[in-house]
Amino acid sequence: MKNEVKVVMGKYELGRTLGEGGFSTVKFARHVETGRPFAIKILDRHSVLARKFHDQLKREIGSLKQLKHPNIVRLHEVSASQTKIYIVLEYVSRGELYNVIADKGRLSEQEGRRVFQQIIDAVSYCHDKGVYHRDLKPENVLVDAKGNIKITDFGLSAQPQHLGKDGLLHTTCGSPNYVAPEVFLNRGYDGSLSDIWSCGVILYVILTGDLPFDEKNIALLSQKIVRGDLRIPKWLSPEAQNILKRMLDPRPITRLNMAGIKAHEWFRQDYTPTVSFE
Ligand code: ADP
Ligand code: MG
Repeated sequence: MKNEVKVVMGKYELGRTLGEGGFSTVKFARHVETGRPFAIKILDRHSVLARKFHDQLKREIGSLKQLKHPNIVRLHEVSASQTKIYIVLEYVSRGELYNVIADKGRLSEQEGRRVFQQIIDAVSYCHDKGVYHRDLKPENVLVDAKGNIKITDFGLSAQPQHLGKDGLLHTTCGSPNYVAPEVFLNRGYDGSLSDIWSCGVILYVILTGDLPFDEKNIALLSQKIVRGDLRIPKWLSPEAQNILKRMLDPRPITRLNMAGIKAHEWFRQDYTPTVSFE
C-alpha cells in the first residue's frame, strides 16, 4: 500500500503526532519547500464554536503573538481551512520536560538550576508583558536539541483585559497539583504570584522527582495546598530548601516574588540571563 503524505495549508507535510490535548492534536510537520521542521497544533473548527474552546484559542494566539523570547515557543503562523484551524509553532525536538525528569528520576541541583533559571526568565518576561500563563507544569515546558527549555501552551493564559475591577484574576483554572492556594480559595488572585507558586511546584518536581502535594481526591489535595502541608527533603542543599519553602509559601503576600527569586542565592549561582532577540 502506498503511504499517503498529507500536505496542509498547501505547504506543510504532516508527520507523527507529538501530543494530544483536550482541544487539539499537535503534529510534527515539514515545510515542503525549505525542509524546515515545525509543530502544528490542529483544532477542529466545529469544536472551536463551543465558547470554551473559542476562548482558549483566542487566549493562546493573542498571548503567543506578543511573546518573542528564546525560552518561549515561537508562533510562526495561523491558518484555517473549512474544517480545521492550524497553529504553526516552532518545533521543539526533545519533547516535554516531564519525560526528561521521568527518565532520569530527578535532575541534579546544577542541571535543575539551569532549567529553572530559563523557566523564570521566560515567565518573568511574560509578566512584564502582562501575560500570566496559569498552566505552568512540566508537560507544558519543552526541551530543545541543545537542552534549552521553551514554554508552551498559552491556552489558559490571561492578559490585562481579563483582570477584574479589583486588578485581580478570578477564574479558577490550571492543573490541580500545580495550582496555588489562593486560586483554590476563589477570592481573586495576583497572576504573577500564582505563576510563581506553579514554578515552585515545578522546581520541587525537578529536584526531587516527586510532587510536593499529591492526593487523588481534589478536595483533599486543595486542603493540603491551602494548609501549606509541605515536606522538603533534607538532602537538598540548604539554599535549595530555602527557595522552595519561600516559593511554596501559602500566603501570596509573603511569597517570594520575581525580584526575590532573581536575588536568591540558589538562583544566582552560574546565572547567565537569556538574551531576548526582539
Ligand atoms: P494542550 O492545550 O492540548 O495541552 P499543548 O500545546 O500543551 O496542548 O500541546 C500538547 C503536547 O504536544 C505538549 O505537551 C507536547 O508534548 C506537544 N507539543 C506541543 N507543542 C510542541 C512543539 N512546539 N514542539 C514539540 N512538541 C510540542
Ligand atoms: Mg498542554
